Amino acid sequence: MTTDMPDATTTWQRLRAGISHPTDKPVAAVFRCADAGISSETVFNQPAGALLDVSTWGHAVDTSVLASIEYAVETLEVPLVVVLGHDDCPAMRAALRAWEQAQLPDGAMRTAVEHALLSVVRRGAAGDSVESVTSAHIVETGLGLMQRSPALARKVDRRECGIVCATFSPGDQEISVHATLGAVGETNGVLVECV
Ligand SMILES: [Zn+2]
Repeated sequence: MTTDMPDATTTWQRLRAGISHPTDKPVAAVFRCADAGISSETVFNQPAGALLDVSTWGHAVDTSVLASIEYAVETLEVPLVVVLGHDDCPAMRAALRAWEQAQLPDGAMRTAVEHALLSVVRRGAAGDSVESVTSAHIVETGLGLMQRSPALARKVDRRECGIVCATFSPGDQEISVHATLGAVGETNGVLVECV
């Protein structure tokens, strides 16, 4: 890790508090849902360029997502990856419909919904609300990034990088942390401690 880069915990605390980072290079990667309707910079009150922003609908993970995350942690040496879901996500609503009524969308959207369903199963979640599906999927997405990227897993194992799995509520500007992985401390509001 470069000497001028703060650690994961400090970076997360600053982001959560909305304290702006200098913008000469990104200080964290944010993997958010594409339909959140709000930019990562706005959520964390950061200037353009302070965050490496990656987004897909419903947090579907493919090799392009993994390449972006690996570039952030390996080349830019960011100490923090935030998996950021949001309130009342249409993708999670679609997953809830699939869970309760066996209704799946067609085409490529189906894959994203199936991934969310797998997250509900893997976490043993109730799957009885959008919030329950979202929480399960955000945590499983963070774990899945590590499972599918040996480079990221190595960084997390060495405690050179941490992952925060969180959701944002645009209505009350509230950030809820659902899990932390690796070298990031979080004392307030962690619902699931995974590592
Ligand atoms: Zn969404």
